Amino acid sequence: MSESWNKRTQAVHGGIRRSQYNEVSESIFLTQGFVYDTAEQAEARFIETGPDEFIYARYGNPTVSMFEQRIAALEGAEDAFATASGMAAVNAALTAMLQAGDHVVSAKALFGSCLFILENILTRFGVEVTFVDGTDLEQWRAAIRPDTKAVFFESMSNPTLEVIDISAVAALAHAVGATVIVDNVFSTPVFSRAIEQGADVVVYSATKHIDGQGRALGGVILGTQDFIRGTVEPYLKHTGGALSPFNAWIMLKGLETMSLRVNAQAETAQQVAEALEGHEALERTLYPGLASHAQNALVQTQLGGKGGTVLSLDIKGGKRGAFSFLNALTIPVISNNLGDAKSIATHPATTTHQRLSDEQKDTLGITPGLVRLSIGLEDAGDLLSDIRQALAVSQA
Ligand SMILES: *Cc1c(COP(=O)(O)O)cnc(C)c1O
Repeated sequence: MSESWNKRTQAVHGGIRRSQYNEVSESIFLTQGFVYDTAEQAEARFIETGPDEFIYARYGNPTVSMFEQRIAALEGAEDAFATASGMAAVNAALTAMLQAGDHVVSAKALFGSCLFILENILTRFGVEVTFVDGTDLEQWRAAIRPDTKAVFFESMSNPTLEVIDISAVAALAHAVGATVIVDNVFSTPVFSRAIEQGADVVVYSATKHIDGQGRALGGVILGTQDFIRGTVEPYLKHTGGALSPFNAWIMLKGLETMSLRVNAQAETAQQVAEALEGHEALERTLYPGLASHAQNALVQTQLGGKGGTVLSLDIKGGKRGAFSFLNALTIPVISNNLGDAKSIATHPATTTHQRLSDEQKDTLGITPGLVRLSIGLEDAGDLLSDIRQALAVSQA
C-alpha cells in the first residue's frame, strides 16, 4: 500500500485486507462478532483494539474497515467511519461534536434532510444555527462569530448546483477555530480535493456515486484520526448507525469503477448541458461546467473544471411544463436518487424539497418548472434526443 498512489490506484487497491486464503476480491465478513482465544485476550481487546482487531460489528468489521480505509486513501483523509446511510453520516458528524449553547453557521441551500437536522433537531438541543447564502462570502464573514463551533455546507448544492468556495469559507472558519464540515456528494470523491482545500470533515452519501448502481444505502465521515476515533467513533458505536458488511462490500466494489463511471457521466452531462443551453423550452440550464454558470471560475480551481454528473433544467410552463417533460421521457426514469448508472429525473418542488415553504423554495431558486437530471451511463446522443423530444412535448 502506498500513500503516493493516485486516486485511481487507491480506488482499486486501497485498504485491502486479505484473510488466510489470500483471496483476490474482497471478502464479505457477514459476522456480528469475533472470537477471542482467551478471556485475557477479550479483556485486553475491550481496553484497546489494534488495527486488525475487532469486537463487535457495530464498532467495526473487516469488510467495513476495508471500505473506510479505501475511501480515506482516495480522499486524502487520515481516517474514516462508515455509516448506514448518508444521513446517518451527516447527523453523526454534527451531533458527535456539538452541545447545547454551541453556534453553527450553515449554507441554506441544503438537501431537505440536512436542513431538517440543522433546523429542527440540533435547535431542539440548544444549538444555535445561522443560515447564510453559501455563495456570498460576506454573509459567512458576518455570521461566523468568535464562539462559532462549526460551519456546514454542501460544496455543490442540490438541486440548483451552486458551488461554494471551500478554501475561502474554511479560512474564515479556521480564524475562529471552527470545524469545517462539508457534504461533498455532488462534487463526488472523483473530482473533490476538499480536505486539501481546507475541509476538516467530509461527508458522503455512498448511496450516490460510490455505489453508483442504485443498490444500497451507505455513508461515510472522513477526517483526522483524532476527530474520527476521538469524536465520531464513540458517538456512532454507542448509537448504532453502523454500515452493514454486505453494503460495505457493495461500496468497496463500487469504488473500483467509480472514476470511470463518474468521469463518463460528467462528460455526458457537460455535452447535454452545452447542447441544451438556450433551448426555446428552457428558462435556465443550470450546470456548473457551463461557462455561463455563476461559479464557473471556482469550478475551474476547486473541481478541475468538472461540473459533476447532475444538471438542472428550468422548463417553461411551470409545474405543468415540468410534469409533461418528465412523463414524456423514455430513457431517464422518474425517481429521486442520483449518481446512478441510469439517468434519473426528479421534480424537486413536489418531491425532495416538497417540505420547504414556498418562500424557502423561492429563495433557493426551486421553481415549479425545475427538473433535476442525474446523468447516467447511457449513450449521450440517445439521451439528448430523448430529452429534446420530451422538451417539445412539454411545450405542446
Ligand atoms: C442523498 C444525499 C444525502 C443523504 O444520503 P442518504 O444515503 O440518502 O441518507 C445527504 N446529502 C446529500 C447532498 C445528498 O444528495
